[in-house]
Amino acid sequence: MKIKQIEVFAINLPLIKPFVISYATYPNMPSIIVKLTTECGLIGWGESVPDDHVTGETPEATFAVIKNTLAPILIGQNPMQFEKIHELMDAAVKDVPAAKAAIDIACFDVVGKKLSVPVYQLIGGRYHEKFPVTHVLSIDEPEKMADEAEQCVELGYSSFKMKVGRDVAGDVKRIKAVRNRVGDEIAIRVDVNQGWKNSANTLQALRQLESIGLDWLEQPVVADDIDAMVEIKLKTATPVMIDEGIRNVRDMREIIAKRAADKVNIKLMKCGGIYPAMKLANMAEMAGIECQIGSMVESSIGSAAGFHVAFSKKIITSVELTGPLKFSKDVGDLKESYMIPYIQLNELPGLGVDVNERILAELTQYSEVVQ
Ligand SMILES: [Mg+2]
Repeated sequence: MKIKQIEVFAINLPLIKPFVISYATYPNMPSIIVKLTTECGLIGWGESVPDDHVTGETPEATFAVIKNTLAPILIGQNPMQFEKIHELMDAAVKDVPAAKAAIDIACFDVVGKKLSVPVYQLIGGRYHEKFPVTHVLSIDEPEKMADEAEQCVELGYSSFKMKVGRDVAGDVKRIKAVRNRVGDEIAIRVDVNQGWKNSANTLQALRQLESIGLDWLEQPVVADDIDAMVEIKLKTATPVMIDEGIRNVRDMREIIAKRAADKVNIKLMKCGGIYPAMKLANMAEMAGIECQIGSMVESSIGSAAGFHVAFSKKIITSVELTGPLKFSKDVGDLKESYMIPYIQLNELPGLGVDVNERILAELTQYSEVVQ
């Protein structure tokens, strides 16, 4: 099997309501879709949702690097050779993990279709039958976040991820408001997205939160400050998760060596796709660090890729891939797999996503074909 053609689409995914986190507000999500066609006529879909603050890539740069650098060297290559595909991409350009993830995901999709198996079958087989779906609360006024949480509990949700990171005092109020409203049985995870900057602010917050019973605290300090995470982990009973601070195997090696986290949030867009994500999960497993598979708010394509990784590994104990629930229009049909409060993957070949090319065309701002 050989890659014959790669099409790249720059699209805008319309959000039902703006997504607000500590460092940005997104009215809609720019995404780069890849359509890979083989000489035998099979099609694989991939997606890249770069994040300038996390992966250091913009959508425009991602489109350009796929079209000008990655796609041309992959025409004629065998998409079944995952290790070699990554070697070629890494030799052509350093980093750009989100761009590489789009190609990686499209290769896994097409190989699954070629072998008539779901992607999870290519990476260990299905381990989890279903995962709870966590609702993500954007940063807002404390009572507004509590209102939304209450409505979600009525819909059946049993866990929340609260986005905070504006200021310690306000954030503590937000967290307490949600806990007071939903009661003690509901799981609350808090993602600071680096907003508390350093260990002093974080420990000040944690002293006020120890009795709240948080599942975990995610990325309170700036991404590169692994030593601050070590200090926080030593001084609190609340489990700590690293997200922006773990991108690739080098980061994971440092986190393991310094015992800097109880949990890590692996995202395909940070590490370069399904194949590198499996390496990170294996490293974490060796060190006894539990993993979550998260996302950059991706369409059905990227989200499905994350789910296939999550469903195949025991050490992956939570998922946070709710993009398809946040869009008013999506290029694929993964939304049908969400049965709140759970998600259950289908057993179709490849990613198991039916891509609607009419909607893709509608959302496309510009596109290019590489042959
Ligand atoms: Mg996070």
